[in-house]
Amino acid sequence: MELGKYSFGIGDRFGNQAPAQLKAINKAWEKGLEITPVWNKSHREHTIVKTHPGDTRKAADEAVQKSGWTSPYFIDADHINLSNVDLFIESSDFFTLDVADFIGKPASYVDQERLMNVWKNYEGKLKVPGISEPFRVNQDFMNDLAVKYVSPIVEAKKIYRHILEKKKGQEFITEVSMDEVDIPQTPPELFFILAGLATEGIPAQTIAPKFSGRFNKGVDYVGDVDLFAREFEQDLLVIDLAIKTFDLPSNLKLSVHSGSDKFSIYPYIGKLIRKQNKGIHVKTAGTSWLEELIGLALAGGNALKAVRDIYTTGFSRSSELMGPYASVININPEELPDPSRVTNWTGEQWANAIRHVPEHPEYNPNIRQLLHVSYKIAAEMGKDYLSLLKQHSEVIETQIIENLYDRHLVRLFDIQ
Ligand SMILES: [Zn+2]
Repeated sequence: MELGKYSFGIGDRFGNQAPAQLKAINKAWEKGLEITPVWNKSHREHTIVKTHPGDTRKAADEAVQKSGWTSPYFIDADHINLSNVDLFIESSDFFTLDVADFIGKPASYVDQERLMNVWKNYEGKLKVPGISEPFRVNQDFMNDLAVKYVSPIVEAKKIYRHILEKKKGQEFITEVSMDEVDIPQTPPELFFILAGLATEGIPAQTIAPKFSGRFNKGVDYVGDVDLFAREFEQDLLVIDLAIKTFDLPSNLKLSVHSGSDKFSIYPYIGKLIRKQNKGIHVKTAGTSWLEELIGLALAGGNALKAVRDIYTTGFSRSSELMGPYASVININPEELPDPSRVTNWTGEQWANAIRHVPEHPEYNPNIRQLLHVSYKIAAEMGKDYLSLLKQHSEVIETQIIENLYDRHLVRLFDIQ
């Protein structure tokens, strides 16, 4: 089972937007860009919305059938570990093994020895074709590797083998992620991590390192764009060398856990993968939910009232809602209007505040981020929220397509 060159991870918290998301991806196909849709939903999201991984499968299958989509698509068990992977075995055919928590954890002597035996072949200078300066791989670097990366690589093997056994011969795609940490993995570290994955027999088709800079949910990249671009290109070249050197799938590519909306780095990612003739997987967060809110606000009446109510409740419960996302959001509480000040806002005003168009004078990234984590409140509204989605599906669909196609795919793939 092979993941295509270009793939895009889409989220759908309430399981209603798969048809609209497919339409957006289909627009790119019409322009000659073959992008594989991958629906990703993490255990955290399922827990908060009270859905089951099987629901994601069902929504995707239904959308695919209705739209007549005949190309591959996948269901990603996003950020799973040994404690929750079993819930995803049946419905997923793409598994993101999250081993970030194991970075720096002690590893057994046997595991260390096995990996060091491979790694020490590259001690000294690591010359990567396409990168002018060789990386210095001295004793300190090697010791650091042993301390930090043996444990996560061995854990990835455990999870991979567990899935392999439970899948009983059914094929699946493997991604390994280490992105949810503070310290980025450098390009030479990535080379050794890939060497380790190959040694342990993990056929990763995508790898999600932590890149430099901040990838907050639903808002733009924060960091040095030039530094990111340099690091990203070096990662592409490192992967190229790793594929040629080790037993890794030839379609192995980077997975960018973008947290959605990294508009300022999209053009660089696009340019560099074209320059190096590489594939890419870009995972987005469940921001389709924000497009639902924009659509509901524009629909007016009860739907607009629901958006206002969600904001009001979200405002009063902000610390509870922000808690699980503390490291990936950046909200300035002083920029959040008191709910009493927004009671008269029109649907347009709400839409302008939430919609990610930074140059719009009414755009408010603080409102946007608070609402992004307030999906728990919509989940608590249960059927009332879902019936609003059904009632206003047309205006919501327009928002979803515009967001996914015009703001994401067009920028990333430079679609004219
Ligand atoms: Zn991630």
